Amino acid sequence: MQFASTRNPEIQVDFREGVFQGLAPDGGLYHPVTMPDLSEIIGKFDSTTSFLEIATGITKGLFSDELTAEQAERICSRAFTFNPALTKVTDKISVLELYHGPSCAFKDFGASYLAACMEEFLKSRSSRAIILTATSGDTGSAVAQAFHNRDNIEVVILYPSGRVSPLQEKQLTTLGGNITALEVKGSFDDCQRMVKSAFVDPELIGKMTLSSANSINLGRLIPQSFYYIWGRTRREKSKAPWFCVPSGNFGNLTAGVMGWKWGMDVPGFVAVTNRNDVVPSYLKTGEYNPRASVQTLSNAMDVGAPSNFDRLLAIFNGDWQAMKEMIKEEVVTDQETLETIARIQKDYGYQTDPHTAVGFLGAERFLEKNSQAGDVITLSTAHPGKFLEVVEEATGALPELPAQLKALQDREKQAELTDNTDEALKDFLLKRFG
Ligand SMILES: *Cc1c(COP(=O)(O)O)cnc(C)c1O
Repeated sequence: MQFASTRNPEIQVDFREGVFQGLAPDGGLYHPVTMPDLSEIIGKFDSTTSFLEIATGITKGLFSDELTAEQAERICSRAFTFNPALTKVTDKISVLELYHGPSCAFKDFGASYLAACMEEFLKSRSSRAIILTATSGDTGSAVAQAFHNRDNIEVVILYPSGRVSPLQEKQLTTLGGNITALEVKGSFDDCQRMVKSAFVDPELIGKMTLSSANSINLGRLIPQSFYYIWGRTRREKSKAPWFCVPSGNFGNLTAGVMGWKWGMDVPGFVAVTNRNDVVPSYLKTGEYNPRASVQTLSNAMDVGAPSNFDRLLAIFNGDWQAMKEMIKEEVVTDQETLETIARIQKDYGYQTDPHTAVGFLGAERFLEKNSQAGDVITLSTAHPGKFLEVVEEATGALPELPAQLKALQDREKQAELTDNTDEALKDFLLKRFG
């Protein structure tokens, strides 16, 4: 399968190259040159097909030109040691729980598949790669967990000292082995700048293979389609559900829409955001005005210029009307988020984290406006125990911590305190890997 930069159709790579490059050299995102038709493969899945079987079947279908059947099987079985779950909460709304992986958030699916792909590709090259990544707290943990103990891969994670929650710090710093945490005496912006400068430093590039694992990577985007296809098989063939997606950078939604393009039969999607509503505004007006983000309680969705918007546009050939027909929009405030967390718990005995609550209220509103619409599957992107403070504020009680996070509390933090300069990172990399 070939992918082209969203900025220049002439820049093309195969999947393997796209995975190691991350971003295209012109700053664009890689996007399929032609959308494959997998309807035959998808049509053979039913409610007894496991998530792993679906992931493997789609991987084989997409990359038959690049991966042997055995490689596809190995990648998927090494990536997916956890599963999604579908819980019916109201008559018409079910929640697709994507938080049963190692970091308790949906990003585990993408990070784990990317890690398994890199491991497989490096094996055949017999070389080593160093993953460099900066995190403001939440997203780094999925990457750290996913790459832990993978062969031929070293991971260096930069995070701002004193600006991540204690639980997040435990998630980043207690793995050890091939995961090194650099605690930077500075801000998240410093961390990002340091990583960017390392990627363009000729001496570093000459001495080591540096790679990124950020959420725009094809190896993270594509596997996010698998759980939509799995969720679809859990509903009758004649009763295609809508999918409702709490969104920030819109990678999750884009992957669902790609699944539809490949042959998954669904009537449409509902994109829900917090007050960072540039995509809902676009869907309403046809005008796209990215802007600085504002802080909200669902902070993993605080994105003012969603990086996957160009991919969404590409899927619809830039046709606003066509996108509008397939994607409906809702916007949810912080106050409504808190009320929704409390109300769902009270009325249905079901606990949600703030991001999931944003999606849930969006699904309810969509159904109010579209009473003929049939059922909705809304995506749960994180375990409520990951956002303790917000859930406590909403309900008055602390949620239960998931076992994965409980286990961390007694582990020892291991981090290297580092100056917030480009030279400090360079020195560290040369000393460790040069
Ligand atoms: C990253 C994230 C989102 C947003 O997903 P996008 O793919 O960026 O739209 C939503 N919820 C949680 C918990 C996240 O970590």
